Amino acid sequence: MKILNLPLSRSVVDRAAHVRTDPAALDAAWSKAKIIHFNGEGFLLENGALRYLSAQEIAGSGERIFLGEHAGDSYFMWCAALNIGAEDHYQTLRAIGHTLSDLDIGLAVHGQAIALWHHQTPLCSSCGSALVPAQGGATRKCVGEGHEHFPRTDPAIIVLIKDHSDRILLGRQKVWPEHRFSTFAGFVESGESIEQCVVREVFEEAGVAVDEINYLGSQPWPFPRSLMIACEATIVDPANARPDGEEIEEIRWFDRDSIYAAVQEGTLLLPPAMSVARAMIQAWYGDDRPELSTAETWRN
Ligand SMILES: [Zn+2]
Repeated sequence: MKILNLPLSRSVVDRAAHVRTDPAALDAAWSKAKIIHFNGEGFLLENGALRYLSAQEIAGSGERIFLGEHAGDSYFMWCAALNIGAEDHYQTLRAIGHTLSDLDIGLAVHGQAIALWHHQTPLCSSCGSALVPAQGGATRKCVGEGHEHFPRTDPAIIVLIKDHSDRILLGRQKVWPEHRFSTFAGFVESGESIEQCVVREVFEEAGVAVDEINYLGSQPWPFPRSLMIACEATIVDPANARPDGEEIEEIRWFDRDSIYAAVQEGTLLLPPAMSVARAMIQAWYGDDRPELSTAETWRN
């Protein structure tokens, strides 16, 4: 089994969980930390990389979130407004994800996921009391009855549908820009295995039965909290494939020559470089062929 090298799964940071429960160690680490800044939408950049602030540059009230250690340095994220006169130097993870270094992408993906969870989880779901960050920002704790809350991650499958002639099937969602096609995806439902989800989604969205499933890897997708689980599913009856007409309005089969031709003609816009979908399509297509260059198209 060959696992894909996925753009948002390149982290090199040791999360150093033992530090989270040691307030003195957290304070000591903070005093000399490299601190990234997330303003709720984007990250502070400098020359195309994350800009690291020192604790002395942080002022006002906000959350410090411990992200881990690497090569002798401690890394935190500061999560609040910060007036440092660099308002034009913030970029979203969507815009910069595939260009960051392995170190920076690990920090940014972890940072964005945890920041959004804190923001979206103000109250205890058991008793309704306020929640406050705990364990260096890794958890939240109920001020009423002490309940501890952990970040949620929502698993979703993303599947490259193939036939036994090594063609791939791409689909177009109604809400996407014209010519934008991608692989098929859906959230894992309660009580469902990954394999069951693949079989269900392929049948629901493309109307065909799966013959064989291979696991290809996974990548965090913190928009806001998904984990994309990449699989390829081979089907036996490609002629029966049809769009569901609700979520998917059009499907197209491609071999390697026809996908290249469609991209060249502009009748096919592929998903963005940092997506699992693009990595799966590229891995199938191969690196020894003419490049599949296409404009970046995000879903609306
Ligand atoms: Zn509670």
